[in-house]
Amino acid sequence: MRIAFIGLGNMGGLMARNLVKAGHHVDGFDLDDAALNEASGHGVRAAGSAAAAAGDADLVITMLPAGPHVLRCYDDILPAARPGTLFADCSTIDVADAHAAARAAVTAGHRALDAPVSGGVVGASAATLTFMVGAAESDFAAVEPVLAAMGRRVVHCGGPGAGQAAKICNNMILGASMIAVSEAFVLGERLGLSHQALYDVASAASGQCWALTTNCPVPGPVPASPANHDYRPGFAGALMAKDLGLAANAVRAHGVAADLGLHAAEIYAAFAEGAGAGQDFSAIVNSIRERS
Ligand code: NAD
Repeated sequence: MRIAFIGLGNMGGLMARNLVKAGHHVDGFDLDDAALNEASGHGVRAAGSAAAAAGDADLVITMLPAGPHVLRCYDDILPAARPGTLFADCSTIDVADAHAAARAAVTAGHRALDAPVSGGVVGASAATLTFMVGAAESDFAAVEPVLAAMGRRVVHCGGPGAGQAAKICNNMILGASMIAVSEAFVLGERLGLSHQALYDVASAASGQCWALTTNCPVPGPVPASPANHDYRPGFAGALMAKDLGLAANAVRAHGVAADLGLHAAEIYAAFAEGAGAGQDFSAIVNSIRERS
C-alpha cells in the first residue's frame, strides 16, 4: 500500500519506520526538517509538502500535536488527494475536532477514520501500540492490517469519532484512579501505614487497579514502576493533562455530571504547569504530599 505519513515527531517518526519495515512505500512530511531527515534515514521518502506526500497515496496517516493542526493540515491535503483516499488520524484530539475532520474529508470525496493510540514512544518503537479505531466497517477492514504493523492491538470502537471517545474515557478513568491511589498512599503515611502494607492489602482487594499494581506511584512495591526511577515517564504529566482537558471538553459539551473527571483535569493541569509536565503522571503523589 502507498502511504503518506504526516507528522514525524516522537511518535510518528517511529510509527512510520515500522510501516517501512513491513514493506510499505511511505512518503513522509513534517514541518520540522530534523524530524523529516531522521525519518528519511529510516526509509521514509521525504516529500516537499504534506500535499505532495498525500497526492499519490492510498492511505494518509496524520500524527500531529492537536485538533487545530489536524484541521489545518486537512485543509491543505484534502484537495491534493485522489478521490476516495482513506484518511486515518492517529493524533489525540478533541472528539468534536475528530468529527469535523472526518466530515471535511467525506465532503471532499474521501473516506476518514480516527485511530488514536496508547503505548507511548516505547510502544511506537516496538510496534506494540494499542489503536482505538472509529471507522465504518469497510474502512476498518482496509486499515487494520496497516495499523497491525505498528501495534499489538487494534480495537474497532464504532463509527468515526469513537476511537477518540474511547481514548479520552479510558484516560479519564486512569487520571482519576491515579489521584485516588496517590491520596490513599499519602493518607496511609499520615496514619503510620507502610507503603508495602497498603499495597499488599489493596492490590488483592477492591482497591486493585492499573494505577496501583502496574504504575504504583510510590517506590518499592512495584519495582518496574516509574516511582522507582525518579518518575521518568512512562506517561508524562503534560500528556495526561492534555488528555484530561479533552475529556473535560467532552464532559461539558455533553452535560455529563463527571465531577471527578473534571476535578482530575484541574489537578493535572496545575501539576503540568510546573516540573510535573516532564515527570511521569504518577508523580502527582508528591504534589499531594506537598499540599498535605
Ligand atoms: P510531537 O510534537 O513529537 O510530533 C508532532 C509532529 O507534528 C512534530 O514533529 C511537528 O513538527 C509536526 N507537525 C505539526 N504540524 C504539522 C503539519 N501541519 N504538517 C506536518 N507536520 C506537522 O508529538 P508526539 O509525541 O509525536 O505526539 C503526536 C500525537 O500523539 C499527539 O496528539 C499526542 O497527544 C499523541 N500521543 C502521544 C504519545 C506520546 O507518548 N508521545 C502517546 C499517545 C498519544
